[in-house]
Amino acid sequence: MALNAIVVGAGLGGLTAAAALLQRGIDVTVLEQAAQLGEIGAGVQLAPNALKVLRALGLESGAAQLGFEPNAHVVRNWKSAEILAYTPYKGVLREVFGAAYYGYHRADLHELLRTAVPKAVIRLNSRCAAVRQEGDCAVVELTDGSTLKADVVVGADGIHSAVRQSLFGNAPPRFTGNACWRGMTPTSALEPGLLPPDMTVWFGPGASVVHYYIRGGSVINWMAAFESDQWAEESWTAEGTRDEAVARFADWHPSVRSLVTKSDRYLKWGLFDRDPLPQWSKGRITLMGDACHPMLPYLAQGACMALEDGYAVADALAKGGSDVAASLQRYEQARRERTARVQLLARQRSIENHLRDEDAMRARDERFARVRAEAATGKHAYGIEWIYEHDVTAN
Ligand SMILES: Cc1cc2nc3c(=O)[nH]c(=O)nc-3n(C[C@H](O)[C@H](O)[C@H](O)COP(=O)(O)OP(=O)(O)OC[C@H]3O[C@@H](n4cnc5c(N)ncnc54)[C@H](O)[C@@H]3O)c2cc1C
Repeated sequence: MALNAIVVGAGLGGLTAAAALLQRGIDVTVLEQAAQLGEIGAGVQLAPNALKVLRALGLESGAAQLGFEPNAHVVRNWKSAEILAYTPYKGVLREVFGAAYYGYHRADLHELLRTAVPKAVIRLNSRCAAVRQEGDCAVVELTDGSTLKADVVVGADGIHSAVRQSLFGNAPPRFTGNACWRGMTPTSALEPGLLPPDMTVWFGPGASVVHYYIRGGSVINWMAAFESDQWAEESWTAEGTRDEAVARFADWHPSVRSLVTKSDRYLKWGLFDRDPLPQWSKGRITLMGDACHPMLPYLAQGACMALEDGYAVADALAKGGSDVAASLQRYEQARRERTARVQLLARQRSIENHLRDEDAMRARDERFARVRAEAATGKHAYGIEWIYEHDVTAN
């Protein structure tokens, strides 16, 4: 029996799920609340584990053209610029983990995924209010009062997921005690060669700054995260001012100050996550991506996990035939432990990135130095080889 599916949410995760479902001959409708498709003006990095998903969807060469491949992952001291950790990426990750690492403008990556999902499949202005199971169907109620039915519903509707709320109640996401500024700085606005073409993280007391090149090296995407007891909305578009952002990093290394000062825009928001969910599915309805495991951005894995989920849920449904509930159980069994581990490790990174205690910093930096001796084999300062080596498409 040919299945039909509804995916709620046309973000990076939802489009991946839709592309993988279509690839398997499963009929799909994607419901998106926005009036227009797109992504906000910010960057996103994809690691080898996510590139393997794009490869399986036939999108790897497009992804390579649109992405900027950093030379290395480099951790620096916030004030002196001393290198604390150095992991070569270009060439090495492809060799060791079977795929490359790229930085993107989110809109470019979103558009690439969209090319694998015909326009007719995506229904805009369609906001899910709730979901329920009714006999042999999963039902989506839209906020305009209409309903749609399918054999299976996948909630890819982000951190405030309405699907999650219907299945498991209305627990709000957790404010992590971290907020951030985010912006994009034209490379031409900086002194030539000021920032090497690396994925660079500056560790400071109670704060860290990440930057990487995108769009052929013409733009540098940056995020400056800091501990805060006040939270801004977890919105991508809360505008702040240059003065506020520059003031927060005024005593940092001059390279960081230049980067932040010359930015085109200043977005600010609080960083939220959730504890790992013990259950993702009920009957014919399941969750994926930020809808079930939103995480702190310190491992740059939230979107990577959403891509992996999207592929995995489609694969489980295609292999499981008409027993949809059993397929969804297999999907979540395969995904829960891995995503929970990444969620919790991202929390741990927020602590280690922002250490203030001298002894703890020394211990961290000595460990980084030991790892560096093995960096050419893909050994990562953050101990995340197990994340990068995974190939969700290999089953
Ligand atoms: C500062 C920061 C930096 C990050 N950097 C990285 C990175 O470098 N690499 C990485 O892998 N991850 C990164 N992430 C995480 C990544 O952005 C998310 O994990 C990823 O976007 C999740 O994708 P998603 O498709 O699950 O959800 P979303 O991107 O949130 O998409 C959800 C979609 O559902 C739609 N929607 C919501 N509600 C409804 C509804 N009720 N009905 C219909 N549609 C609905 C939304 O409009 C949206 O289109 C970062 C996150 C932050 C905060």
